[in-house]
Amino acid sequence: SYFSQLGLADPLLRALADKGYDDPTPIQRQSIPALIEGRDLLGLAQTGTGKTAAFALPSLHRLIATPKPRKSASCRMLVLSPTRELAAQIAENMRGYAKHVQMNIQCIFGGVPAGKQARALVPGCDILVATPGRLLDLIDQRALTLRDVEIFVLDEADQMMDLGFIQPLKRVARLLPPNRQSLFFSATMPQAIEELGKQFINNPVKVEV
Ligand code: AMP
Repeated sequence: SYFSQLGLADPLLRALADKGYDDPTPIQRQSIPALIEGRDLLGLAQTGTGKTAAFALPSLHRLIATPKPRKSASCRMLVLSPTRELAAQIAENMRGYAKHVQMNIQCIFGGVPAGKQARALVPGCDILVATPGRLLDLIDQRALTLRDVEIFVLDEADQMMDLGFIQPLKRVARLLPPNRQSLFFSATMPQAIEELGKQFINNPVKVEV
């Protein structure tokens, strides 16, 4: 398929074939090659455009290409989502794209007891999908550290702002290692969101769909 021309690893191409995806969507075509190279990304995109695969596929590709042992209470990729429903959906999609590789993908969100989530983080995971409040709770409890994050994704930045997550996100920005790759997505880009984006991304590729 055309996905193979984008340079994605074979187990990812097999997962896409299983799903019956033949061609990348515009945001996937525009994002995947630059993300495989390790560039930061600023994406102006709504849900329904294929945004999840646009960040999931190249990130999985990079994680597969550089295998590393798991470290307790840490993750290699962090995806932040404004709501529990979106976080669960992203984690489920990522598990689908990762079905032919060994990836430990965890999802944490508020509204349920934190104990089970904290225990699931003890061995360390490859990919963590989280809402901001519960993420910071678990960091404060020493159940999680962000020091090994290689890829950071902030999804639905404008919804994050509407839900009052700006200060928590600024704290997350200070906890992330400086040499990571960052992806920043928003459906709209008002001034305040652009300013927030500057705290996370560095010389990004800009994609608008
Ligand atoms: P998203 O914008 O990430 O929520 O994706 C919207 C929907 O499109 C989801 O149901 C995806 O599974 C599906 N999708 C994503 N990429 C493709 C593709 N290249 N071909 C067909 N369907 C896709």
